Amino acid sequence: MSKQLPVQKNEHVHVQFEDLTHDGAGVAKVDGYPLFVKQALPGEVALVKVIHTKKNFGFGRLIKVEKESIHRVEAPCPVFNRCGGCQLQHLSYEGQLQYKQKQVQEVMARIGGLNDLAVHPTLGMEDPWRYRNKSQVPIGEQSGKIVAGFYAERSHDIVDTDECLIQSEDADRAMNLVKKMAEEYGLRGYDGKTHKGQLRHVVIRHAAATDQLMIVLVTKNESIPNKKHLIKRLRDTFPNLASIVHNVNPKRTNVIFGEKTTTLWGEDVIYDEISGIRFAISPRSFYQVNPVQTKVLYEKALEYADLKGKENVIDAYCGIGTISLFLAKQAKHVYGVEIVPEAVDDARQNARLNGIENADFYVGEAEKVMPWWRAQGIEADVIVVDPPRKGCDESLLDTMTEMEPEKIVYVSCNPATLARDLKYLKEKGYESKEVQPVDMFPQTTHVECVTWLEKVPREVT
Ligand code: SAH
Repeated sequence: MSKQLPVQKNEHVHVQFEDLTHDGAGVAKVDGYPLFVKQALPGEVALVKVIHTKKNFGFGRLIKVEKESIHRVEAPCPVFNRCGGCQLQHLSYEGQLQYKQKQVQEVMARIGGLNDLAVHPTLGMEDPWRYRNKSQVPIGEQSGKIVAGFYAERSHDIVDTDECLIQSEDADRAMNLVKKMAEEYGLRGYDGKTHKGQLRHVVIRHAAATDQLMIVLVTKNESIPNKKHLIKRLRDTFPNLASIVHNVNPKRTNVIFGEKTTTLWGEDVIYDEISGIRFAISPRSFYQVNPVQTKVLYEKALEYADLKGKENVIDAYCGIGTISLFLAKQAKHVYGVEIVPEAVDDARQNARLNGIENADFYVGEAEKVMPWWRAQGIEADVIVVDPPRKGCDESLLDTMTEMEPEKIVYVSCNPATLARDLKYLKEKGYESKEVQPVDMFPQTTHVECVTWLEKVPREVT
């Protein structure tokens, strides 16, 4: 017979919260049995309803906070309780920064075995709202009405909203205008479950330095009714509009963009600038979403690289060449590698745009291109990596260490895979020196980190 759990489903219990999980839920223990409760904070005492139990842990719903944390604040967003976009609006910003530092520290110890590694206080924003330069807003239909907003947590149900406090006010206005025009022109919202409807997403990109705006409409097939009017109304509303793009995605998929992209009006790209370097951004290319903090992040990476002007640098996972061009100014030569061909085209164009001649970009998997470089006699003094959430392939880590750079700078958007990779690199003779968390995504549980590692000198016998 299974052992009786300390709490039963639907039971109400008074609990004290001790901790926050990596996805921002409060953790309370009832006779050692952990209960995870959204929007509860450490130090709080609360009445909770148990909603789900498993063998080793359960989930509860917050009914009433009886003793509040000093870090509790009122979430300003009206749909915070339903929308899956933000998880931490109820936690003071100071509290969010401390939470992120602690999360990184814990993961370094638990996954990386790096208990003594220095994790600095998180570098935060002065104003942690309205920071996103890109919004990808799903459009749908509910009870015959067009809806636009973000998905509820762990679902593809759209939470209809007319305002998102972490995106720009222009993005709010564009989202609302597109919704209104869709209603007026009979453009149906797309339903992912039935694959019916036409308008799938509106993507809004804004270049903070130049104020240029790009609006991308993603539809299931080619047709957009009243296209001319639609373009005119967007242009009349946004004097800073530089580009209107149409992307067609006929597939049954959660992936936002399809293969076919055409410019309906204006330019194919918008231009942004970070620390005096200009970047062309096309509708689909990867570009960091928080321009204020990108500068902080890249400057930290540059500081850690500590270039003197004589170094060969490899930027693996280089995207549109942002970090590469940042480093090129202070290095002898930078080699960037990236898997998406369009991003490499952008990177080359960006180098030209800035008159940078000591940076070369290659298309391919970093783990394959790097050994080839090595065979060509290219040596690296510093290697920078900035992989996607899943971290680096082991083969890439192997190649990297075989190239024996003096230094590795690792930029990561996922502390768990960072810790795993740092552990592996330690076994291969590279010691992690320090970790700097940077808050690229205020109000959410996500955190970016930059770390540097040094080659441990072999003992001379
Ligand atoms: N450093 C850039 C991009 C970081 S995002 C910036 O800060 O803007 C990570 C990039 O890695 C993406 O552009 C993705 O396309 C690329 N990528 C993913 N797997 C790769 C691989 N195996 N080899 C090279 N690039 C890869």
